[in-house]
Amino acid sequence: MGRLDNKVAVITGGASGIGEASVRLFAREGAKLVLADLQDERGRRLAEELGSQVIFQHTDVSKEADVQEAIDLALSMFGRLDCMFNNAGIPGPGGPIENLAVEGWDNAMAVLVRSAYLGMKHAAPIMKRQGSGSIVSTASVAGMQSGFAGHAYSAAKAAVINLTRSVATELGESGVRVNCICPGGVATPIFGRAVGLDEEEAQRSAGTMLMALANIQPLQRAGVPDDIANAALWLASDESSFVNGHALVVDGGITCGPMWTATNARREML
Ligand code: NAD
Repeated sequence: MGRLDNKVAVITGGASGIGEASVRLFAREGAKLVLADLQDERGRRLAEELGSQVIFQHTDVSKEADVQEAIDLALSMFGRLDCMFNNAGIPGPGGPIENLAVEGWDNAMAVLVRSAYLGMKHAAPIMKRQGSGSIVSTASVAGMQSGFAGHAYSAAKAAVINLTRSVATELGESGVRVNCICPGGVATPIFGRAVGLDEEEAQRSAGTMLMALANIQPLQRAGVPDDIANAALWLASDESSFVNGHALVVDGGITCGPMWTATNARREML
């Protein structure tokens, strides 16, 4: 028995990192799903590897028609929609506020916030008709506390958290749950890819960077994509059937207190 037997999902950003781990885990747990991503080659390869229960669909999550098509595909191929996982993302621009270009800001908002709104908007009517469904979005600890990421990314992830809560209050009475996950540092190629590294270099650099972060975090290891995929699986499954409007923090404890508290506390103990 799989934990997602007879369930149908759409996972955006499913070609890499947290999304890829979620696609593999959801499929292993019995779900049929549409993997929606910009990266055609990686997405197709993964769908082929996993067989007929996974379909790749080229999708730009900032475009309404693309998001709707991915959801329509799940419905037409598999007959229902039980989980919409709004996960695709980019790091957005860094640097001081006075240098933050409008284009970079707008692009971050489109890929990180508009996408979640579109996923919710187009999943909602189907799930309301069914009387059930779980919408999950990947937010970030950067949406809860400052200092983890650039200004646009931090603002966008905070918006995802509150959009989640707002929509949860509307859809709950229809049996549809809306939650998000706030990962801490997770070793994926997202950071390296943004500065132009190829896929392999980006993965290597993520590991190194996050090992440094792990030194100032109560659980002293880098997060791995499966840590977040497991949280998404729980939120997608019926095991979390009373959980709604929640921002599930999966961060090794880095938001327990200011980073220096953890470091200093350890020094005291040594
Ligand atoms: P990743 O780069 O490995 O995966 C992101 C995926 O999103 C890629 O496959 C990429 O092609 C896809 N994508 C990007 N823009 C897209 C678009 N416009 N349309 C469709 N697909 C698009 O990175 P990841 O770390 O797995 O990121 C997944 C999510 O987790 C993101 O929302 C990210 O902000 C969030 N997150 C990551 C971390 C971390 O430390 N890695 C921490 C907190 C939150």
